[in-house]
Amino acid sequence: MGDPSSPLLIRGAEVVDGTGAPRVRSDVLLQGDTVVAVAPPGQLTAPREMDASGKILCPGFIDTHSHDDALVLERRIPHPKLMQGVTTVVTGNCGISLAPLVTQHPPAPLDLLGPDSYRFPSFRAYLDALDNARPALNVVPLVGHNTLRVAHLADWRVPATAEETECMRRGVAHAMDDGAFGLSTGVFYPPSRAAGTDELLAVCGPVGERNGIVAMHIRDEGDQIDAALKEALDVGAMAGVRLVLSHHKVVGSKNFGRTRHTLRAVDIAARTQAVCLDCYPYEASSTMLSPAKAAATGHVLISWSKPHPECAGRTLESIARDWNVGLEEAATRLLPGGAIYFGMSTEDVDRVLAHPLTMVGSDGLPHDARPHPRLWGTFPRVLSHYVRERRLLTLEEAVRKMTGLPAQRFGLAQRGTVAVGHVADLVLFDPEAVEDRARYENPQAPPAGIHAVFVNGKLAMQNGQVLESHAGRRLTP
Ligand SMILES: [Zn+2]
Repeated sequence: MGDPSSPLLIRGAEVVDGTGAPRVRSDVLLQGDTVVAVAPPGQLTAPREMDASGKILCPGFIDTHSHDDALVLERRIPHPKLMQGVTTVVTGNCGISLAPLVTQHPPAPLDLLGPDSYRFPSFRAYLDALDNARPALNVVPLVGHNTLRVAHLADWRVPATAEETECMRRGVAHAMDDGAFGLSTGVFYPPSRAAGTDELLAVCGPVGERNGIVAMHIRDEGDQIDAALKEALDVGAMAGVRLVLSHHKVVGSKNFGRTRHTLRAVDIAARTQAVCLDCYPYEASSTMLSPAKAAATGHVLISWSKPHPECAGRTLESIARDWNVGLEEAATRLLPGGAIYFGMSTEDVDRVLAHPLTMVGSDGLPHDARPHPRLWGTFPRVLSHYVRERRLLTLEEAVRKMTGLPAQRFGLAQRGTVAVGHVADLVLFDPEAVEDRARYENPQAPPAGIHAVFVNGKLAMQNGQVLESHAGRRLTP
């Protein structure tokens, strides 16, 4: 396509600009990393052109909930996010960040971020490594409360002392002063379970003072979800932070339908505080293997196991049968490990995804041997399953949830919408052919129908081929 530094005209696409506005057929001119003109077809010319007729051009997708903290330091081809049209990832979710912590033996769930990953004594050291790595995508880093607890507490099984809490508060403040967008918490998980509401409020303090964002994996997404949600909303309001409720869902068949109430509570809170949600478009969750949870859920797939790697991809039920033991005993023998839990209803997933405050986030786990298909399929699945096949969302609304809304909520200036002067993070796809192909039985399949992905104006992926692995940047608040 000629000199890659000369202006490029993307001709004839239907532009879905990320604001939710109806699509408009336009030509879009890129120069360097910027969109310099958007005009009706036929008015612009440029030394390089790309024919995009019949396709949709929209902002690059923003994965609001990733666990790509180590992945963004690697060069991986094919790339699970770039292949989907993702141009920006938010890292450090669920209270789990790679820094600040140095350890060979991270406790679960910190071990979800891959082997030998915890080698950064400060958040600054992690950010420097990220800058040096020149990531494939743009990165919005958060610092994690679980990580801070493991780093600063003599014993994370108990509440933090006043002194330890102060160390964590300083850790949050330093991380943000160095470039973190905010904090994530995950009091559902063992390293933070002993943290009370007071401690949560204390560690959110420095985020509020800096007008930052806090993403919360709440204490309980099952029977006790109402209390857990109230705690999260109260802490967010009291700390004065912009709150993201992570991977919102209710699990357990007796709780099916309760998103009607949880979303009502979010709507009421949203009148007086900054709150939004993220969710992934699947009825199964995935995280560390926990024997009690696995036994209670019933239908469970093993995504990795350190002592029994041969069991990855199998159902817990079939493993237990082979071993002639119960589900809980089988799960215990597989530890440490990860699992996929089939514990949500279609109706709840639909209701959360369709809510106007909900953004899309993959929650993908890039180091699992047999990952949940959300790692490779989330964004195309929204476009194929929820827009084209089931018409739960219009295409424009789906794109807004994956671009404009997250850019606004995370404060990503000049990103998330197609507009003159904005950064050229763009994806070009065929609305009739776009399709996630990752399935539970074949989870690492790249999607179909994503034609081109531009990261900061560079053509990073085209027709399934990664052309540029270093076009991303660490973004700053
Ligand atoms: Zn989580």
